[in-house]
Amino acid sequence: MLIIKHPTSLKSILNKKYLKGRTVGFVPTMGALHEGHLSLVRASLRANNVTVVSIFVNPLQFNDAADLEKYPVTIEKDILLLSEAGADILFLPGFSDVYPEGDQAARAHYDLKGLESVFEGKYRPGHFQGVCAVVDRLLSIVTPTNLYLGQKDFQQVAVLRKMIQLKNHKTKIVVCPIVREQNGLAMSSRNARLSPKGKEKAGEIYQCLKIINEKAAQKPFEMLKAIVINRLSENGIKTEYLALADTLTLEEVHSFDTNRHLIILIAAFIEGVRLIDNMSLQ
Ligand code: AMP
Repeated sequence: MLIIKHPTSLKSILNKKYLKGRTVGFVPTMGALHEGHLSLVRASLRANNVTVVSIFVNPLQFNDAADLEKYPVTIEKDILLLSEAGADILFLPGFSDVYPEGDQAARAHYDLKGLESVFEGKYRPGHFQGVCAVVDRLLSIVTPTNLYLGQKDFQQVAVLRKMIQLKNHKTKIVVCPIVREQNGLAMSSRNARLSPKGKEKAGEIYQCLKIINEKAAQKPFEMLKAIVINRLSENGIKTEYLALADTLTLEEVHSFDTNRHLIILIAAFIEGVRLIDNMSLQ
């Protein structure tokens, strides 16, 4: 696996004659890699000639300085995992590589038509503008055929779809399913901050999503929502939001509707760690 730090080196490698006409799969990450990330890498490896993975903890998408400070960094282990998985190139840029014109200039504004201000965006102001800024830059550098994103960050996929359309990037989004721990907890780099007991309890988030899904035909959403928020609270989990939304528009709806594709979205705190998860209604 090649490890490349500078955008110009990466561009020149990807422009080499022997790579012309080959497909490039790209997996952007913030490191502290786990099976969820690796599932994206494997999906890319299966479908592309070259797989590029990036690790860059993007300060612009953190609205909470303490969260950025505590974000786990495990670069040696990440390198090992990626080379074992068979990734071709690891792109490890620094801040000025991604944002050569500095912090202020990096704060471009994307007209995301409100997709960035609901759910995650409501509780993390500026988060999605920061996500768009970094992925926009990375896509300009890597110019991949396929971009691999996780369903775990459902709203992020919707926002990036919009950004890609706005900026006319020629890349196709491939969405990969959520990889979970045995107890159902969605894998996340933030899980490393949970105690073993906290990790076990956090499996309740998935159980609650399942309950809502399974009971959707019998009980109103608002009733199920109240029941599961209470159950989560009994397990030391504080719900920030639990909502039902249209998968295409992200419009919030308050009752089940079999004529629409709906998704349950949740953000919750356990042991001071903020976790998100989601489940499409069957
Ligand atoms: P992150 O490093 O958290 O920015 O995540 C990088 C990519 O991995 C994003 O596209 C995430 O949606 C995806 N990802 C993170 N956790 C999971 C998971 N448990 N299952 C599938 N994809 C994931």
